Amino acid sequence: MNYNIGVIRGDGIGPEIVAEAVKVLDHIAAKYHHSFHYTEILMGGCSIDVNGEPLTKEAIAAAKASDAVLMGSIGGDAKTSPWYQLPPEKRPEAGLLGIRKALNLFVNLRPANLYQELKEACPLRDDIIGDGFDMMIMRELTGGLYFGERKTEEIDGKMTAVDTLIYNEDEIRRIAIRAFDTAAKRRKKVTSVDKANVLDSSRLWRKVVEEVAKDYPDITLEHMLVDNAAMQIVKNPRQFDVILTENMFGDILSDEASMVAGSLGMLASASLNDTKFGLYEPSGGSAPDIAGKGIANPIATILSAAMMLRFSFDLDEEADAVENAVQQVLKDGYRTIDIMPQDNSKKNTVKQVGTAEMGDLIVERI
Ligand code: NAD
Repeated sequence: MNYNIGVIRGDGIGPEIVAEAVKVLDHIAAKYHHSFHYTEILMGGCSIDVNGEPLTKEAIAAAKASDAVLMGSIGGDAKTSPWYQLPPEKRPEAGLLGIRKALNLFVNLRPANLYQELKEACPLRDDIIGDGFDMMIMRELTGGLYFGERKTEEIDGKMTAVDTLIYNEDEIRRIAIRAFDTAAKRRKKVTSVDKANVLDSSRLWRKVVEEVAKDYPDITLEHMLVDNAAMQIVKNPRQFDVILTENMFGDILSDEASMVAGSLGMLASASLNDTKFGLYEPSGGSAPDIAGKGIANPIATILSAAMMLRFSFDLDEEADAVENAVQQVLKDGYRTIDIMPQDNSKKNTVKQVGTAEMGDLIVERI
């Protein structure tokens, strides 16, 4: 099959980690007889340097013309980078919000699973981890508090700010359907997280999710208040399969889940719309502290490319091959610096490698 892949290398470690994911995709193309054509797209700080803005109309058009987009990460060090002297709407991060909106990417998927080989990187106790956990967080990405009307004004002599949390039933239904479809291919459980004891938007959320659940009799649905969910993720992450939630709750819970799963360098993500198109990127940022050193972990980006194969191209066998190769490389004892054991006595049981070597080792195992 032929696919057009938009490639946003971005800033900081972005170009280093994307190069390894492209290396893996090229190997998949050769082995399984596909043709991947790449279109380079500038976004973030690198686009500011060239075009004076983080996201151009041409970049959006190139992304729309692609079957899927693979992205590294954007942004720089807020204290030292000149990009952060610009007004907020001209900074690198504005490009990210802009592309999500322009492509209507309303669902963000973040798997948070713990590899047995990386148990030492998990901050939770052994008895909590057990034989590992595997959650899929599905966060609504284009509605809620981040996109509602907001203003700051003086009322009765006091500065007063307001943000609006708004959802309509269609916005809730479309992501709920995605969550149930995803759970159907996994362990058949959806935990819908809301704050229905206080918020009207959450009560509507709960009602619509329950309506959607009627079409999925094989899937278990539970509702959980967001404060309890935050607690349960560290108390017993093994209870979760798919976690479905709105934009801000998902923003917070997905970062919490990524921490309990170990390094940011391991965690993939996908942002999808109602077609097969998706934007695939690692959960972490541009890591300016380690950029250019050749030590960043490329695995999250490689696993994001595997999600692209699975969700946008329906190439499940190829996606499995990439995921199995990642698992094997960890079993064989190879680690980038971020996933080295903390305990000094365990350091000589594994071998530390750099970004490009990790990419090569994964390719060898596909
Ligand atoms: P960060 O995720 O870039 O870094 C946090 C820590 O994790 C750092 O110590 C970093 O070295 C480490 N880390 C992250 N990815 C790693 C990898 N692949 N391998 C090894 N270590 C890794 O977060 P930050 O420092 O808060 O943000 C840096 C910049 O990234 C900021 O400009 C921020 O706005 C941007 N950012 C971009 C995205 C995105 O592109 N989607 C997401 C988050 C942050």
